[in-house]
Amino acid sequence: MRFIWKILNSPLLVILFLWPVILDLSGCETNPATGEDEFLLLSSEDQRQLGAMADAQVLSEFGVYEDPAIQAWVEEIGRKVLAHSNDNRFDYTFRVLDSEVINAFALPGGYIYVTRGLLAYLQNDAQLAMVLGHEIGHVAANHSAKQYTNSIFANIGLAIGGALFEDVRPFLGAAQTGLQLLFLSYTRANETQSDTLGVKYATLAGYEAAEGAEFFVTLQRLQEQAGVAIPTWTSTHPDPVDREEKIIQKAEEWKIALGGGLGGVNPEIYLPRINNIVFGQNPRNGFVQNGTFYHPDLQFQFPVPSEWQVGNFATRVQMISPQEDAVTIFTTAPGSSPAAADAFRSGEGIQTLEQTSRTINGFPAIRLRTNVQGQGGGTLVVLSYFIEKDQNVYVFHGYSDPSRFGSYFNTFEDVFTNFSALTNPSILSVQPFRLDVFQTIQSGIFNSLVLPNASAGMDVQSLAILNQKEIDQHVGQGTYLKQVD
Ligand SMILES: [Zn+2]
Repeated sequence: MRFIWKILNSPLLVILFLWPVILDLSGCETNPATGEDEFLLLSSEDQRQLGAMADAQVLSEFGVYEDPAIQAWVEEIGRKVLAHSNDNRFDYTFRVLDSEVINAFALPGGYIYVTRGLLAYLQNDAQLAMVLGHEIGHVAANHSAKQYTNSIFANIGLAIGGALFEDVRPFLGAAQTGLQLLFLSYTRANETQSDTLGVKYATLAGYEAAEGAEFFVTLQRLQEQAGVAIPTWTSTHPDPVDREEKIIQKAEEWKIALGGGLGGVNPEIYLPRINNIVFGQNPRNGFVQNGTFYHPDLQFQFPVPSEWQVGNFATRVQMISPQEDAVTIFTTAPGSSPAAADAFRSGEGIQTLEQTSRTINGFPAIRLRTNVQGQGGGTLVVLSYFIEKDQNVYVFHGYSDPSRFGSYFNTFEDVFTNFSALTNPSILSVQPFRLDVFQTIQSGIFNSLVLPNASAGMDVQSLAILNQKEIDQHVGQGTYLKQVD
């Protein structure tokens, strides 16, 4: 494979691989959600393959949240809800991602994701069942497959046009928008249909689906509160107020159809389970402070050039120049630094200009300069360092096109040669904030029962939203409440 794919690890790789498959295997299939036959560009097998590849991409971007009990329990509720979907085409995979962003999404082939950020803002099993039901609905009704197909064709057009290989800028574009391919934006009709399916599946699974509406109120409140980033999942979704009313109405209809009776809500089961989950960014996974990137778990640091954008992903740190014409990628490789450099140099289309051994702040390293040939004839100039520290090889690549490489050379050198051991004890011992779920000892007004946490950015209003309560609401004795420690 070409160097650029290795470096960017882009979904476009997936797309180019699948291009012939997509053309060959289109056809008619029955939609499990509607029971109607429809023409789809992706067969179930295509969806399964595409989903598996895109899932690997999601994992390399976010990583799973490492709490087996929470993973197992989300899957358990997911499977209860899934059992009522009629979608037997896929095995389905449920994952909790290690991200503070409040999000849930689905990929073709039955891949369902919720973030730990979302779990913190839910209040009970019924809300979780509704969110999972909604995402299952997107897969079962083939929304994911249809949207994914559209994104793929848009991007294949771009690749075939050759523009991708003419300049660094389009590479950067691919790197930056890569993930957006995974966050499919659906039509409003799709969203409404998924809400309806989510209500149906959750109700049949024994949950109070109207609770789903409460969560949309929370999203609305978060949106109104300045400074809280709401991802695609909510911004492209229908108007929350409208949505809330429809969900309550559909839930009522389903309850009547099933002969009445209240479904399960289970805050007393849900809330203790999310006690202690990581809240907000986890600094153990790396963070930027005063122009330096620190990684407390792996105990290293390196400088961040002024005004460069930093993306900290599960398997790499990517930095992009303000003019978006130069990139550094920081990642890890197996083996020794000479072996890692050799493996890189042996890639197709790579011409070695210079290779030297160095010592970087006490660590043995290989410095490598290469030219990398793009498919369309364009060339990138790349400066790489392969640095051995604690049985790991840390790899830096800095690249730009030949006309601009010279102006970035010193910046690349400065970042890479200032890679060093992190020894500052206060940074080494930094800990994430965590959710503290407790039961009230006495009844009272909400704001008298919780402790704000200024350093976590949680004032009383933020805590009220987190708890789906009002600041001045009366709260009974023994109620589960959340705060942030
Ligand atoms: Zn949706």
